[in-house]
Amino acid sequence: MSDRNGLLLVLSSPSGAGKTTLTRLLLERDPAFELSVSATTRPPRPAEVEGRDYFFVSDQRFAEMVAGSELLEHADVFDHRYGTPRSPIEDVIGQGRDVLLDVDWQGAQQIKLSPLGRSVVSVFILPPSIGALAARLVSRGQDSKKVIAGRMAKAQAEIAHWAEYDYVLINDNLDTCFVQIETIVSAERLRLARLPGMRGFVEGLNAEFDERRRDGDL
Ligand code: ADP
Ligand code: 5GP
Repeated sequence: MSDRNGLLLVLSSPSGAGKTTLTRLLLERDPAFELSVSATTRPPRPAEVEGRDYFFVSDQRFAEMVAGSELLEHADVFDHRYGTPRSPIEDVIGQGRDVLLDVDWQGAQQIKLSPLGRSVVSVFILPPSIGALAARLVSRGQDSKKVIAGRMAKAQAEIAHWAEYDYVLINDNLDTCFVQIETIVSAERLRLARLPGMRGFVEGLNAEFDERRRDGDL
């Protein structure tokens, strides 16, 4: 049993703004975080690994996961299906550890409305400019020109949801943006609602007052 309730950190951004990079940094530097590995029907990119980046599944398997309520949320993004497996998240949260989710605005909305919604802290990452976003999609070197054009075309629709998030950050300098995420996480972990042991601690302080009164020290 942990002394705090785990949080679900939901990161969204238009493709190319830096979510994956920030996610990797956070997982490297903060051992309390576990990454939620999504299922998708999209084919793997050259550098992607099954089970680490995604569970790459067929349309039929994805439909089975939806029908069997295996997904906490799911959505169609860029002509493919993406979804968050439910049970790993419930396990991690139940142990008082934290889960990091990289999902689009549709996923963020659904998770907030789910029974785990009270654990959610949502962060939207903006690029410093649309020029920088385009340059990052190209420099990542993982997608074809056609795929990049499609992602740029949809970036404005994703950005339109910025105001639905708890925090909105501009990923201009990577180090600065990462420190901002660490700051948010540190503060959110200290919220009273996430510290179930605080009531018992204050009861202990009151017991000490009582004892001192009994002993005539107060
Ligand atoms: P997303 O997961 O949001 O699609 P990535 O994390 O893959 O985006 O980042 C897209 C590209 O931009 C990558 O090549 C990454 O190294 C680069 N990148 C990320 N953040 C910055 C930044 N602050 N400045 C410059 N390049 C960045
Ligand atoms: P990519 O194909 O670049 O890995 O991801 C494309 C988009 O799908 C990104 O905006 C990413 O956040 C989103 N995405 C990835 N996994 C999930 C998921 O499980 N659920 C939802 N709703 N979106 C996801």
